[in-house]
Amino acid sequence: MSRRGWLALLLAVFTTAATAAEPPRLVVVISVDQLRFDYVDRFSPWLTERGFKRFRREGAVFPNARYRYSVTFTGPGHAAIGTGLTPAESGIVGNNWFERDTPLDEAQWQWYFDDNTVYVAPGLKARNETPATPWWKLGGIPRYCTYDGRVKVSAGKSSGMSPANLSGDALGDRVKERHPQSRVFALALKDRAAILMAGRRADAAYWFDRDLPGFISSTYYHFNPDVLAFNDSLRGYMPGSDEWRPSSFIPAQDLPLVTFDPPAAWPLKNNTYGGTFPHPVKSAKAFTYTPFAQDMVLDFAHHLIVTENLGTRDTPDVLFVGVTPTDYVGHYYGPDSMEVADNFVRLDRSLAHFLDLLERRFGDRVLVALTADHGVQSNPEVVKLRDPNADAGRIDVRTPSPNATLIADLPPLRIHIERDLARRLGIPFSPTAPLSHSLVYFFEEPSLWLNWKRVSELRLDAERVKRTLRDVVRDMKQHGIDDAWTNTEMLAADANASRIQQLMRASYRSDRAGDVLMALRPGWIWMWGSNSTTHGQPVDNDMHVPLMFWGTGVKPGVYDVEASPLDIARTLGRVLDAEAGGRTSRALPCF
Ligand SMILES: [Zn+2]
Repeated sequence: MSRRGWLALLLAVFTTAATAAEPPRLVVVISVDQLRFDYVDRFSPWLTERGFKRFRREGAVFPNARYRYSVTFTGPGHAAIGTGLTPAESGIVGNNWFERDTPLDEAQWQWYFDDNTVYVAPGLKARNETPATPWWKLGGIPRYCTYDGRVKVSAGKSSGMSPANLSGDALGDRVKERHPQSRVFALALKDRAAILMAGRRADAAYWFDRDLPGFISSTYYHFNPDVLAFNDSLRGYMPGSDEWRPSSFIPAQDLPLVTFDPPAAWPLKNNTYGGTFPHPVKSAKAFTYTPFAQDMVLDFAHHLIVTENLGTRDTPDVLFVGVTPTDYVGHYYGPDSMEVADNFVRLDRSLAHFLDLLERRFGDRVLVALTADHGVQSNPEVVKLRDPNADAGRIDVRTPSPNATLIADLPPLRIHIERDLARRLGIPFSPTAPLSHSLVYFFEEPSLWLNWKRVSELRLDAERVKRTLRDVVRDMKQHGIDDAWTNTEMLAADANASRIQQLMRASYRSDRAGDVLMALRPGWIWMWGSNSTTHGQPVDNDMHVPLMFWGTGVKPGVYDVEASPLDIARTLGRVLDAEAGGRTSRALPCF
């Protein structure tokens, strides 16, 4: 080769290296709360070219992305997206869990009773007695994943929130360690979504207080009043008609092709805002159950980028965005509804607008990852309307009302568990015995906590009681139980354990789990007191979610490899020269 040829080659190599080394100035991670994998394909004919389809056209998509753990809820999911850690590693084993070894804290219990639908026995209100020692004062506390009584919110009367319960470093933490000038922010409607994606050293996380209404933060962070000035514009997002009417993005005649929502299904959905269109939007809470709140979230993200001057310096900044209304709409109306369909195609337009803004501002120096914290299962009553023989339903083993006093005040299946457990252990059982005599003390998905005070009063063998409770629950097959394990078995799970047990083990931490853990069959969900549907099981509808990348350095393509949102932190960490993620995290091959 001539001298000139060599020079040209060298120059070409240097130019390529310089281009490849040009890092993004801003990384945006978007989590669409409760976005099941099939939505993008199912609603594809009515999507724009610049929203979700832009990832398929110009970016990298991973059609085989699944969570590698069983507790498919918002808290664990957003912790997984932000940190790459499984719940067993991050400690975020649920939205709520029970801590037996934490001293009784009445304020925390009160918070739990105010925020959760507990079981109220039909005869309880009529009796109207106040127990001398309420059942829940036996000890321990229910813990909400981001509750932190030591910090205060920036405005309003809600509780303080922080990542105090998060047990590992997030992507943002590692980026800040590697590039001290980098800035990390997160926002969502839900506190747990923003806080758990942001990690422990974020500059600020922002979330929405419906009572205010407005975005808030907490004294854990260096929140910026100029960012919160966005709250002055909220009224503009409320629909002028005070109603959510369907858009015509999916023509009326096409809707039945991609939904199952006949008039007979309307009373089976959550009817707080009616069972079908138009839905009244007369309060801030109702507003968060509409697509209009999605526009607000994405505009707030843009406002934060501009106000904080993100992506304008030499070190990369990171922004996590949690699009929450999809979850609220999905819970109330179900994945087969016209509401979910209309909400999703509207989100596609809002997303297209947001991506356009990013492209205009940063050119090719922005990198976007998009995924979901979990999917969702169909409303079981709607499933049965479609097919009366379908294997689907709800199982109710809820925690009783705070003023329950008798075993008879428990949900019927909890009474069944007490009776069957007593029979197998050879001890007396009476429904009129005080609630302090019950052998099961507390339920939070996926665990039952035993009443150890009662077990020791009866001088029973602890492991035998656990194994017997496991057998009682395992025999409840007709109620949707797939399998159950004692916590001793869960700790001993190894590579030979069943796939479901391994997914449960990846969600297990001994100080935040109960004595017997349960998994439900596909189609079955736990009952929480309404006809909303839900998620949270180790089943494909809950675990399989979209995972896509677009922007700086992304090698476009459809990647058929097994992947997970747990891989985002490690993958983006590699791009940003920071090591992040957990034991199961992989660097995805799209960079
Ligand atoms: Zn949800």
